[in-house]
Amino acid sequence: MSEAKNLGCKNCGANLNFDPAQVSMNCAFCGSTFFMEIPETEEDKKLRQDAEIITFKVTKEDAKQKFSEWIKKGLLKPSNLTSTFKEKEFEGVYVPFFKVRADANTSWRGRDKIVIREAANNEPAEYEYIDRNGSHSDTYKDFITATKGLPQSEVDSIIDEKKIDDNDTKPFNQQLMMGFKIENPAVKEENAVDMAKERIKDKERDACRSGVNELLDTDTMISNIQTKLMMLPIWILVYMYENKPFRVLINGQTGITSGQKPVSKFKVIIAIVIAAAIIAGIYFVTKKK
Ligand SMILES: [Zn+2]
Repeated sequence: MSEAKNLGCKNCGANLNFDPAQVSMNCAFCGSTFFMEIPETEEDKKLRQDAEIITFKVTKEDAKQKFSEWIKKGLLKPSNLTSTFKEKEFEGVYVPFFKVRADANTSWRGRDKIVIREAANNEPAEYEYIDRNGSHSDTYKDFITATKGLPQSEVDSIIDEKKIDDNDTKPFNQQLMMGFKIENPAVKEENAVDMAKERIKDKERDACRSGVNELLDTDTMISNIQTKLMMLPIWILVYMYENKPFRVLINGQTGITSGQKPVSKFKVIIAIVIAAAIIAGIYFVTKKK
């Protein structure tokens, strides 16, 4: 078996691992055919060999079916979308992610706002503030993309950490991944951990906010961080509409589908007009009373 080549997409930055036997040399992320060779370091090789994979459960036929249901949805899509779009790329890709597990413990400070006198007779309302503080803790699991081909916000829409069965994994095995493209990690583990920490802090802040009127300050300690490189199965479909590319992602384990869809400017204007008419209607009705 000849050596696989590591190629970086000059358009989107994805770092794909090509088997020389592969026929299609297009970037699965954006459809580009412009690449530059990236030599693989020993460190990269080791990282990849230690990765766990979740294999594809959604077949190409199933993925196609999910896409054709998805493309029909949406009130604001152009009327001719389903009859005129052109499929460009449709491939199964093992996309690298860092699974990050960690415990978080937050102490918070805030205050509750209590009305002691309602506003009346042109006098403003009077409030009293009561200082509050407390703590919150939780365990988190997150999947941080290690590819430069797909931004985190895009993969978040198909990665539901509660629905992914990450016990159903296999050790990295090129044989098992035959027929699919493999992307190499292009993000450093420590950067993925930093990003996971920021996301955990945000989630902790949201959790603390639910218990108090005004959250003033939080201090989150993150401990027991465990990371694992995982290759997650994703069907990536790029389609063209009026010469512009749009990308759809389908989670190869759970089937969750999400993507970009053009909107009809005409339909958006109609929606705004209808909304304005409804608001005007409400105003008119309430004024009449
Ligand atoms: Zn690309």
